[in-house]
Amino acid sequence: MQKIAMKTPLVEMDGDEMTRVIWKWIKETLLEPYIDLKTEYYDLGLPQREKTGDQVTIDAAKATEKYGVAVKCATITPNAQRVEEYNLTKMWKSPNATIRALLDGTVFRAPITVRGVEPSVRTWKAPITIARHAYGDVYKNTEVKIPGAGKVELVYTAQDGTQTRELVHAFEGPGIVQGQHNVDASISSFARACFAYALDTKQDLWFSTKDTISKVYDHNFKDIFAEIYETEYKEKFEALGIEYFYTLIDDAVARVIRSKGGFIWALKNYDGDVMSDMVATAFGSLSMMTSVLVSPKGYYEYEAAHGTVTRHYYRYLKGEETGTNPVATIFAWTGALRKRGELDGLADLSAFADKLEKATIDTIESGVMTGDLAAMYAGEKQAVNCRQFLAAIAQRL
Ligand code: NAP
Ligand code: MG
Repeated sequence: MQKIAMKTPLVEMDGDEMTRVIWKWIKETLLEPYIDLKTEYYDLGLPQREKTGDQVTIDAAKATEKYGVAVKCATITPNAQRVEEYNLTKMWKSPNATIRALLDGTVFRAPITVRGVEPSVRTWKAPITIARHAYGDVYKNTEVKIPGAGKVELVYTAQDGTQTRELVHAFEGPGIVQGQHNVDASISSFARACFAYALDTKQDLWFSTKDTISKVYDHNFKDIFAEIYETEYKEKFEALGIEYFYTLIDDAVARVIRSKGGFIWALKNYDGDVMSDMVATAFGSLSMMTSVLVSPKGYYEYEAAHGTVTRHYYRYLKGEETGTNPVATIFAWTGALRKRGELDGLADLSAFADKLEKATIDTIESGVMTGDLAAMYAGEKQAVNCRQFLAAIAQRL
């Protein structure tokens, strides 16, 4: 059989623990037999990040700017315990945060749906994609405990020294206060990433905040989205027959529950954090969530939403087979390959991505799946380990 050819390499970012093991298996059983796989390889595994002083992460992000499409394996974000376990010289930053900062991106998360694992919300028929703004608000806050009576003010000092003051509260007793910020440049990037992704995936875009209460802060988000939509995207949306609308977050929550799904829901940082966990859980499981970082400049980085599945890795190291679900990692590869195919005009490559996704879904819908899905699956089923599951997909493919 002639293998499918590629033009431009994918930026391949390898990772850690169980997902690193699965990464290799996926390439061996599902990709390399069919594709003349071209990648520029970056090892983002923790030992290599330590060895290069995390330069490898920066190089991988820069390569993504050069080539446009990356696929990333889950990686360890070091904490104190990992510093000891891996004998690290430094508690390296989260690779995802480093890459996001360099590419200035927005993260889109969407569930992979299969028949037999029904969403908790009966009306949902198609996936709901969450677009979460990944900068500022409560994640970059300043908090102060107020010990007793006194006045708290916001003070803005301009570069020429002039000051503007706004009373927060005149305390009569102890309390708490919090300062938050965001910047127009980041909000604008977020808006453009959302509009571009809606066009790319041909889905409606919803955006919601609490602008009725937060008349300056949240209203600023609403205004920036509206302005960019009107001036840059409205015609393109109309030509494609998709819709952008803004609605108050309370209204959005009610509408999302009543909806059939099949749209993108853009949210501020905190709202996106909370709602993505709710949507993921209601659709099934984190092991079935895809994640893609889209930069406003048109770079894409695909990954699974879950972590390195540490508990399974320790069992694997003892020689045990594990029921780790590889679906989200397979879909990270298919997402990247399909996008590479689109950008390079390689219809075969994009078609292969579609076929691999279909083979994966069909395998599950035939009743063969890993344990995490079997626990939720209604119908006849056989729980298999990760390798058996990959073999079943390969056979179908
Ligand atoms: P996790 O790796 O997502 O795993 C948490 C638990 O969820 C697992 O122990 C497993 O439950 C279940 N699970 C997750 N993915 C699964 C899969 N594909 N198949 C079957 N079960 C799955 O999260 P974590 O344990 O909190 O974090 C582990 C490491 O991953 C940490 O070092 C963290 O820094 C890193 N992390 C990386 C990313 C990323 O690179 N994007 C994201 C999150 C976390 P059972 O054990 O009950 O089977
Ligand atoms: Mg969260």
